[in-house]
Amino acid sequence: MSGKDFLKSVDTVFDKAAKILDLPEGLAIQIKSANSIYKVSFGVRLRDKIYTFVGYRCVHSEHLEPVKGGIRYSILADQEEVEALAALMSYKSALVDVPFGGSKGALVINPYDWDEYELEKITRRFAQELIKRDLINPSQNVPAPDMGTGEREMAWIADEYKRLNPTDINASACVTGKPLNKQGIRGRVEATGRGVQYAIREYFRHEQDVKLAKLTMGIGGKKIIVQGLGNVGYHAALFLKNEDEAIITAVIEREGSIINDKGIDIKKLRQHMIEHSTVKGFEGYTELKNEILEKECDILIPAAMEGVITINNAYKINAKVIVEAANGPLTYEADQILSSSGKIIIPDLYANAGGVTVSYFEWVKNIAHMRFGRMQRRESEDRNKVLLSSIEDILGSKFSNVNKNKILEGPTEIDLVRSGLDDTMRETYCAISARWHSDNKIKDLRTSAMVIALQKIAESYKLMGI
Ligand code: NAD
Repeated sequence: MSGKDFLKSVDTVFDKAAKILDLPEGLAIQIKSANSIYKVSFGVRLRDKIYTFVGYRCVHSEHLEPVKGGIRYSILADQEEVEALAALMSYKSALVDVPFGGSKGALVINPYDWDEYELEKITRRFAQELIKRDLINPSQNVPAPDMGTGEREMAWIADEYKRLNPTDINASACVTGKPLNKQGIRGRVEATGRGVQYAIREYFRHEQDVKLAKLTMGIGGKKIIVQGLGNVGYHAALFLKNEDEAIITAVIEREGSIINDKGIDIKKLRQHMIEHSTVKGFEGYTELKNEILEKECDILIPAAMEGVITINNAYKINAKVIVEAANGPLTYEADQILSSSGKIIIPDLYANAGGVTVSYFEWVKNIAHMRFGRMQRRESEDRNKVLLSSIEDILGSKFSNVNKNKILEGPTEIDLVRSGLDDTMRETYCAISARWHSDNKIKDLRTSAMVIALQKIAESYKLMGI
């Protein structure tokens, strides 16, 4: 799908929601349009010659600052794609009550073409271009990882910002998704995949919605197909398999797919991918890719890229529920075909919001300059000790050591991150499901999510006096 089509899909859902809310046309146009987009061309001397790279950073909406959104490394990225992704960031953050505006960036590059040293040089040059224009700044614009980037790139960006702004005490808050020893937060690496798991868990708590997809209650034993075993897809698949007893029957990757109706060992497959840079050679390998998207399953999780389910293959999709872990994997037309045939689509706006939610926690941690739980953990433990021994005295019997330790322990940073993420995913699903079922103009979860997000952004614009 071209960036232009991606943007059109996002805007079509927006227009539908604006109409339902009866937003004044001028306000709707203001919210929908990207506020600014910066395109940079810069040269880097590598392999004895100068290579020119093109990058983008789009600021979609500044109704709240900083604006937030990942930086992706992709050879297919273009301006419209970045605009579509930045718009999704505004709507997503509003939906999950993360107090950020929306932004997104991309560098047009195939990261696999360059070695680590070269990538560092390129990333630092790109970061300089953005930093000097405040397009990376703790109080104005805070990137995070996305497709093709991770902790390593975020650490380079943070370091570059620190070099250029040595007296900024909040420098580490200029980017999220950093490694733990570079002021990152526990749970950020897996946050988006963890959020996908929590979203699916919450869906299965809503019997009415589960029945609409003609599924039985409970994730255990459900057959799941995942496209893309990168950061998001891997963690979602791993947690759903290991913690919820789902069966991952197929994984679709760039060079082919792995199929195993009894369930794929996700950890082993990822290890194989790390060692061989491909899924080829793993048990159950087939060259087929698109056909596997159409294979029968309970839940399909596209977690690779945008535009993989279109008007051309939507009719062939055999999943009952589709969870958009990637941004924009379904085109608007595909979404309409699938929804009208009774499938439940858990939209990107909600399903992959775990990343920005935990990024928010990391940003708060960075400006607070303190790890979550540091002050209260032992205090909670002491209080719980008193409470437990009083209960034991009254009952005249003792708790088992296992239970005792669980009750006694105060919360650690990872406990708090998971609790905050779970709460966000649960509350948001409840809100979008309730709105869907209570407003007869809303026909699906995607429209509901967009209506809720848009209503919040519109309120914010009105209060800004625009
Ligand atoms: P990633 O680069 O870590 O992983 C992407 C995976 O998809 C890779 O394993 C890649 O080989 C595979 N892939 C690429 N093209 C494919 C194709 N045509 N068919 C099958 N597999 C293919 O990226 P990621 O961070 O996991 O992001 C994936 C999606 O999730 C993107 O749409 C991104 O915008 C979205 N997302 C990511 C985050 C995050 O925190 N990383 C947050 C929100 C949304």
